[in-house]
Amino acid sequence: MSSIKPSRVISNTGAILLGVMGDPIVHSKSPVMHTAALKALGIAGNYVPLHVKPEGLESAIQAVRSLGFRGVNVTIPHKVEVMKYLDNIDEGAARVGAVNTIVNNDGVLTGYNTDGIGYVRSLKEEACPKLQGLEIVVLGAGGAARGIIHALTAEQPGQISVVNRTASKAIELAREWSFLADIRGLSETEAKEAVRSADVLINTTSVGMHPHVNELPVSEDWIPSGIVVSDLIYNPLKTKFLQISAARGCTTHGGLGMFVNQGAYALEYWTGQAAPVEIMKEAVLHSFTS
Ligand code: NAP
Repeated sequence: MSSIKPSRVISNTGAILLGVMGDPIVHSKSPVMHTAALKALGIAGNYVPLHVKPEGLESAIQAVRSLGFRGVNVTIPHKVEVMKYLDNIDEGAARVGAVNTIVNNDGVLTGYNTDGIGYVRSLKEEACPKLQGLEIVVLGAGGAARGIIHALTAEQPGQISVVNRTASKAIELAREWSFLADIRGLSETEAKEAVRSADVLINTTSVGMHPHVNELPVSEDWIPSGIVVSDLIYNPLKTKFLQISAARGCTTHGGLGMFVNQGAYALEYWTGQAAPVEIMKEAVLHSFTS
């Protein structure tokens, strides 16, 4: 995990200014989550949604410096493009090829990726405390999968099998990171045996996401009973994939924890304080129902 020591936590005004840049941004749960966190920590400040279109990204990043933001999150579609406007990129974020968190230290902007480490923290806390030596199957090889797989390689798994509809992406990703772990890329037609011997099965594809809630990323009868099954999707909170896996006696883990923990890491980078994870989760859950 990357660690940073904030050199300037609170701005001259005594308040901390934070935000999230994306296009669109109106549906983001980050403002409600971080506002609750700042309040719980007793830190004066604001976390604001920033609607930034691709053509405005460079000037928006310059404004982080000029307006004295302590930091920002970056979401779709800017996670890759933003990298060229930063002063430093953390090693993990550079390997993943995407940044979701920027820290401003007196005008020097450093980009991090907390998606993967947030996911693994959540998986270990909620479902699978020890990943060492386990057979992990990751369905999907898109942007989210890259962050997660990179973070999983640090956990000394037995083997990681990456299965993707476009097999070449999975094979290329496995080749790129073969120096980090025992990792292989597979096509969907090769997936059955890998899934059947998995200890941990992770869906990083968008299959099953609202409104296509009845779709499954793998055949139901491939899922071994009693394993850990995880889904990055958090809308719905419990996908059909997780419901079916629970009925087969699996320990299940949904995507809300990843979202909360990527935010928790970002907040810790900005403030140097432990994030109030339960309060952040409650705030997001409450916003779904209000
Ligand atoms: P992405 O970069 O577009 O990747 C999508 C992945 O899903 C690719 O591997 C793609 O395969 C696969 N896929 C899409 N439709 C498919 C289908 N019909 N059948 C089989 N495979 C299919 O997207 P992403 O950013 O990685 O996001 C993926 C999922 O993770 C989304 O559901 C998103 O909501 C979720 N997510 C959750 C969090 C969180 O905080 N919980 C954070 C980020 C993302 P191909 O390569 O063949 O196209």
